[in-house]
Amino acid sequence: MHNHSSHLGSDFASRDPAHLARWQAAVLAGRARAPRCTAIAKSGERCQLPGMKFSDPCRCHRHLHGLARDLTDERRRPWLEALSRRASRPVMSSTARKALAAIERRRLHRAWLRDPTIPGSTLLLAPDDEARVAETLLHRFGVDLNNETHTERARDRLKWACVRMLGGADPIKAGYRVNAALRDDERWRKRTCA
Ligand SMILES: [Zn+2]
Repeated sequence: MHNHSSHLGSDFASRDPAHLARWQAAVLAGRARAPRCTAIAKSGERCQLPGMKFSDPCRCHRHLHGLARDLTDERRRPWLEALSRRASRPVMSSTARKALAAIERRRLHRAWLRDPTIPGSTLLLAPDDEARVAETLLHRFGVDLNNETHTERARDRLKWACVRMLGGADPIKAGYRVNAALRDDERWRKRTCA
């Protein structure tokens, strides 16, 4: 019979209830010490959510938005890029990659407020899905994605409306979203041509 006692031994040690309890207590204590959001909630009391690395306010949109969000993103970017390359920590690096993608989406949305023709997309689709989305937009809403008069921002919003609908969202709401994207393009064109 093979003797696995050394391996089993260490395995059992990590499952020892007292050890687990100490470990959990340490995690909770660490969390309790983590800096809290500095924002004042609507109730007038301090927001109790944990802050974020490189940011005093928490990540919630009410407490971190606009320029402060942009500055936080810029401070976090190099740190996230380093984490995303850390192959030895796959979960951490995948979380970092998602955070970087979110930063890129925010940057694009902000840039589109100034100029909706700036190239970019906040939605990554496989070629098959891309084709399906284009076809659905054309047949269901009469919108041609290849129409060159659409701005990049409109194209992005049209695709999101369609993707949400294909994922089960209310088609009527999708119609509203499509109309809003087209209407905002129209408004922008009127402003720039005036
Ligand atoms: Zn907060």
